[in-house]
Order: sequence, then C-alpha cells, then structure tokens
Amino acid sequence: MRFHVITIFPESLDSYIHESIIGRAIREKKIDVRFYNPRDFVVVGKSQKDKDKPYLRVDDKPYGGGPGMVMEALPILKAVALAEKKLKNKKLKPKIIHFSPSGKKFTTAYAKTTAKKYADVILICGRYEGIDSRVDKILKTELVSIGDYVLTGGELPAMVVLDSIARQIPGVLGTFASLEEERISSSQFYTRPEVLLYKGKKYRVPKVLLSGNHKKINEWRESKKK
Ligand code: SAM
Repeated sequence: MRFHVITIFPESLDSYIHESIIGRAIREKKIDVRFYNPRDFVVVGKSQKDKDKPYLRVDDKPYGGGPGMVMEALPILKAVALAEKKLKNKKLKPKIIHFSPSGKKFTTAYAKTTAKKYADVILICGRYEGIDSRVDKILKTELVSIGDYVLTGGELPAMVVLDSIARQIPGVLGTFASLEEERISSSQFYTRPEVLLYKGKKYRVPKVLLSGNHKKINEWRESKKK
C-alpha cells in the first residue's frame, strides 16, 4: 500500500515513520509513504508583502469573518493531483481522507476495510481553522476524526491512521498473530524481573503468568480485558 500525505509539515512526521515496525515495513517495501507539501504549489510573489522573503502562504482569511485562517483550496488540490499521478495502482481509485474533528470516527474496522480495498490512501492534513470546503466537494473526500478533541493539525491523525492501517497489511507485524484482535490480549503485561524492587517495595508478576498453564493464562487474560 502507498500512503500519500498532504501536509505543510512533512518533517514533523519523517522520524516517526522511519522507526520500529512502520520503519521496517517501509524498508521491506510492504508500505510506502510519500509527502506532498501544498507550499510547493503556491505561486511565489502572489500579493507579496515582505519583498525579501518568498511568499509561500497557503492560508487566507475566512469569508464571512471569524477567527483563524483557512487553508486555500488550490495548493491542496494541486498536491493531491500530483499524488494521483504517483499512485501505486492506477487502475484502482485511491481512498481520499481529509482529517476533521467533526468527521466519521476512525476505528479498527475502518482500518481493516481500507487495508483490504485500497492500494493507495491519500491523507489530507488540515491546519489553522481547516481547509476550504470546496476541496471536499471536488475530491469527494471522506472526513475522518480520530477522537472527540481538537488538535492543532491533521499530522498526528495522519500518523494514527497510517499506523493502524499499516498493521492490518499482512507481513507488517512480525507475525500476523500479533494483531490484538487475533489473540487473547489483556490490558496488563509483565516482563522481567519477576520481582520488581522499587522504593523499598516488591512488585510481583501475577502467579498465573508463571504457571505455564495456557488455559489458565488465557482465562486470566480474558478476565483482564476491558
Ligand atoms: N475549526 C476546526 C473545527 O472545529 O472543526 C478545527 C480545526 S483544527 C484546529 C486544525 C486541523 O486539525 C483540522 O483541519 C484537522 O485536519 C485536524 N484535526 C484536529 N483535531 C482532529 C481530530 N480529532 N481528528 C482528525 N483531525 C483533527
């Protein structure tokens, strides 16, 4: 699968995608991540106020007034058009997600379906007050929220969604059995040492986990599921 991330802050995501499981998935070519910066599609000099600096503004005041700025449609549309030229599978339509706190709630079920149905996912990250709504109309985006809170931008949501979809792709996790939903997991985990000494107190691993009795261990894990 190829992820195409539309963001004015690509550097903020670069280190995350190159670490750990996602980094390995990229190195093993199981997934591929490309960035497109709307600033690269701004006409330099457009109503330039400071003559000494290149004018790469992608936002402007909202029509109708109100606080905050709105990201202009054209730089985003041009960035998406470039992404559409770089699709992994040109015969399949890409999924185009636009992050918004008022969008459809992102879930594991959503990640699973997307991983099965699509070869390309375009993730549009908003900033400021958001993006000119004509982008959604033109691109028929799906508005997606990662939770009932407001962040300063769509970059963290893009990483959440990318990470969650990527782990549904066979081979991305070391063994597919590592998927939470494929095994009996719990909200409690323990590793060495068996007895942790901290500030004069001893903290032990629950006995059942040391018993070697897998039936009992599974029952214990089920009981600890939320
Ligand atoms: N005025 C917007 C509203 O209330 O819907 C908030 C915009 S927010 C400050 C800037 C950007 O962050 C949004 O365009 C969106 O891309 C992203 N964002 C913030 N919270 C989010 C969430 N919970 N889920 C998905 N995206 C979010």
